[in-house]
Amino acid sequence: MQHFPIFLDTAGRRIVVSGGGEAAVAKLRLILKTEARVEVYAREIDPQIADWAAEGKLTHYARPLKGGDARGAALVYAAAEDDAEDARVKVIATHEGALFNWVDNLGESAFITPAMVDRDPVTVAIGTEGAAPVLARAIKRDLEERLPVHLGALARIGKAFRHSADALPFGRKRRDFWADYYMKDGPEAYAKDGEDGAQAALDALLARHLAEAPKEGRVTIVGAGPGDPELLTLKARRALDEADVIIHDRLVSPEILELARREALLIAAGKEGFGPSVSQDEICRLMVEHAATGAHVVRLKGGDPGVFGRLDEELDALQEAGIGWSVVPGITAASAAVAALGQSLTKRDRNSGVRLLTGHDMNGFAEQDWRGLARPGEVAAIYMAKKGARFIQGRLMMHGAAPDTEVTIVENASRADQRILATTLGRLAADLAEAALTGPALLLYGLGPRLAEAALPALAPALAEEHA
Ligand code: SAH
Repeated sequence: MQHFPIFLDTAGRRIVVSGGGEAAVAKLRLILKTEARVEVYAREIDPQIADWAAEGKLTHYARPLKGGDARGAALVYAAAEDDAEDARVKVIATHEGALFNWVDNLGESAFITPAMVDRDPVTVAIGTEGAAPVLARAIKRDLEERLPVHLGALARIGKAFRHSADALPFGRKRRDFWADYYMKDGPEAYAKDGEDGAQAALDALLARHLAEAPKEGRVTIVGAGPGDPELLTLKARRALDEADVIIHDRLVSPEILELARREALLIAAGKEGFGPSVSQDEICRLMVEHAATGAHVVRLKGGDPGVFGRLDEELDALQEAGIGWSVVPGITAASAAVAALGQSLTKRDRNSGVRLLTGHDMNGFAEQDWRGLARPGEVAAIYMAKKGARFIQGRLMMHGAAPDTEVTIVENASRADQRILATTLGRLAADLAEAALTGPALLLYGLGPRLAEAALPALAPALAEEHA
């Protein structure tokens, strides 16, 4: 993020524009929405600017900007559409310590003006670092269609009511009240009876929420899927939207955590790896403790909570503490991995069953039914297999599995940095050592990618197109 979005207080400040042509008019349209004193420096000005000056909306100085004019200004815009003049203004503004923008010249500007959706006091600023103005406009249009036109009015009325709403306890109760106002009661009442309607709706809502019994805490154990946020279920999205507390695994991708409600308390509870780790007992204790305060706790786990996720231990703890729970399933790593290969976990005439295995358990490398697995056509998805790959290879070969049995490792399945390593049982350990994987990886035993290895880097997009 080269450009950091902020909201600047313009009340009582000066905003200075150098130039009087079309570029200046376009910027002034936005700037005049602020509470700043606006000054325009230009010998000649567009009639629109003259009108604004006549209406007292801005002050026009019929001369070029000079040293001293930028001192103390909140913002300075160079909009003369003349490189030499704009460069001169830049020197003055920079020297006098004012934030400076050269219209349509990203490289020479200290700040840029975003695309905006204006439902004052609700404003949305959209930026693409100058990379895709078309995209910014499309997003703006989309938001404008979605946000009710009277959202600004509702927010203004709501803001004046904040004090009264403090009668509700901080946290969940107060948030529920505001959610009802902005999403349900407020818009309906405003559409019917305008400001008075919205005001009456606030009073009625507050009385109702004050009378309500306190909510009981609960825990939703949610599968976050393999990493791609688009592979979250709608239920998972909703849980992230509503959560007061989110206790998440190390496996849950940052892109998914971005979707969490901003007010939610995020607790990282990684169990593996080299970072600080949180024990299972501690995780159970955290869930119970937060739910006991009436919070909606989301326990967010990579993939599906029911696959190598120690779900039962967590449910037992909740049940013992008498806390309500539910489970939202997720897409497990094996599903994402086979999708990347263009293969299926089961296939007629090849394997009528598939095994989900773990490479290691509490006691170290996990023993499996190696003899059964060594039979031709067997398929297994082996989780947590990176460390134990040599052990798995040795056991399977010892029990007679063919060295040319296909094995595929999918690292970071479904994520932007997904990698696919196609190998065979005989070469597995050597290839894996060479690949030096760093992300979570799944071993698919008995499966190879549908496409040739040469086509692998582009495998996922290519397949997506093929099926489109
Ligand atoms: N509940 C999870 C599995 C947790 S065990 C699920 O259903 O997917 C952790 C193991 O899952 C990792 O060691 C790795 O083998 C596998 N895994 C999880 N996410 C993965 C991903 N995006 N790509 C490849 N493997 C993944």
